[in-house]
Amino acid sequence: MPAQAPTLTTVPVLSGGKWSTPAADRYEEVYNPSTGQVIARTPLLGASETAEIIEAAAAALPAWAATPVVERARVMFRYRQLMEEHFEELSVLVTREHGKTLAEARAEVQRGLEMVEFAAGIPAMLMGDSLPDIARGVDAECVRHPVGVCAGITPYNFPNMVPLWMFPVAITCGNTFVLKPSEKVPLSAVRLGELLIEAGLPDGVLSIAHGAKECVETLLTHPKVAAISFVGSTPVAKIVYETGTRHGKRVQSAGGAKNHLVIMPDADMDQTVKQLAASAYGCAGQRCMAGSLAVAVGAAGDPLVEGLVTHGAAMTVGASDPGVNAAAESLGMGPVIRKEHRDRVASYLDIAAEDGATVALDGRKADGASNGFVIGPSVVDRVAPAMRVAKEEIFGPVLSVSRVDSLDEALALGDGCEYGNGAVIFTQSGYAAREFKQRFNAGMIGVNVGVPAPMAWFPFTGWNQSFFGDLHVQGKEGIQFYTRQKVTLTRWPRQEDSHLDPVWAEKR
Ligand code: NAD
Repeated sequence: MPAQAPTLTTVPVLSGGKWSTPAADRYEEVYNPSTGQVIARTPLLGASETAEIIEAAAAALPAWAATPVVERARVMFRYRQLMEEHFEELSVLVTREHGKTLAEARAEVQRGLEMVEFAAGIPAMLMGDSLPDIARGVDAECVRHPVGVCAGITPYNFPNMVPLWMFPVAITCGNTFVLKPSEKVPLSAVRLGELLIEAGLPDGVLSIAHGAKECVETLLTHPKVAAISFVGSTPVAKIVYETGTRHGKRVQSAGGAKNHLVIMPDADMDQTVKQLAASAYGCAGQRCMAGSLAVAVGAAGDPLVEGLVTHGAAMTVGASDPGVNAAAESLGMGPVIRKEHRDRVASYLDIAAEDGATVALDGRKADGASNGFVIGPSVVDRVAPAMRVAKEEIFGPVLSVSRVDSLDEALALGDGCEYGNGAVIFTQSGYAAREFKQRFNAGMIGVNVGVPAPMAWFPFTGWNQSFFGDLHVQGKEGIQFYTRQKVTLTRWPRQEDSHLDPVWAEKR
């Protein structure tokens, strides 16, 4: 690791309600992608430091699980208020450590805030079922209990929102929670933790561990962790699911994507181009719901590509941090997360050309030069299904375009896709939209909507290699994941019958 400036902030961990900066053998640098400068360093915890944090979370569990759910929810109401008060600060922090534009960061924090609002309503959602007289004199009830210590492992692309998909729900359901944010963007998670403590969360209910593989492996195998929520790339999501379930934990594990955007010839082309650009280039393409393969049906192909190239070429690209760019507020697209990632994204343009596709707009030539990790929007035309740009998740501002002759052909492309997060159709035909909704091989569907975004109240229903597990994050499934059910059968015999044969009821 390169030498660190002596003043460089080491990102603190949270354990048992106390912040500390443990000495670690290894650190990961946190960059400001707008400038390319290192702004902090993340300690990469080993097994024993991670286990200590888990033990603290386990120690806090009994008292928190026994706290009435209405009181637990009240912490979320206060948390929501604090997040509102610090909304702009949280948004700027996302931009600073991630690089997305301020508008995108604000949208992210808003989606996260909605998860807190959802969690504040959990008392109503946790109410159980009951059936009196399921047998004579016997009543049945089914209620939800917390599962125990839960852990969340999150990716770099939503430093604020994805942690909020997890811990507000888990905690309000009565669990304690260990968050392991992405080591590339840990600052938002730390700020979220500080505000939650300020909201009155008791010590140890939320912990924050930092690290990479070793830290995650400890969370996946430790006997005191009951449930794992993971969001990240597909290869890691699969490992997390397999390791966690092998160690007896319930696991929800969300992975990568290759989202198809189908454009019918009757689509409103101006609107469609705008929506496609927002879908493919929003957050510089670093979204698991980013549209990355446009499938143009019939006559849609030429006007679509022409519109995308014109739109993409006109986008402003550059430093998104308002501290270094006075025009940040109106910026079209910010940098990507790291220099290596920018190079990887750029390499796909060479791969596409070698495979025989046409690079219609080359983001490497975009203006907006800064010392940051900037790459402009690209459009790759005439992409065939077997090409790597048609199949692989690039996770950058590259939109590939395939041309097909019919909706059936577009649906068949979806059938061949290993992922299944989302898919969108642009059309004015209700029939085509309905066919698409019914038949496309993905869990989140958009009709004339660029990104069928996951919303707090509905489950984020990734399919295929985009999700491993049964119960997804968010919505009712999130609550089901963080709770286990208990059924009780109750009989209260009359006192005057108590001298009778103990199995009197069976004789009634
Ligand atoms: P990543 O898989 O590299 O990292 C995610 C988390 O896993 C991080 O906290 C990281 O520290 C940890 N990790 C990395 N390698 C590990 C290993 N070998 N063993 C154990 N833990 C490991 O993902 P990323 O680059 O941070 O995020 C981008 C990916 O996340 C993209 O593929 C994107 O599609 C996906 N994503 C999916 C969703 C979804 O809901 N499906 C949402 C956001 C992002």
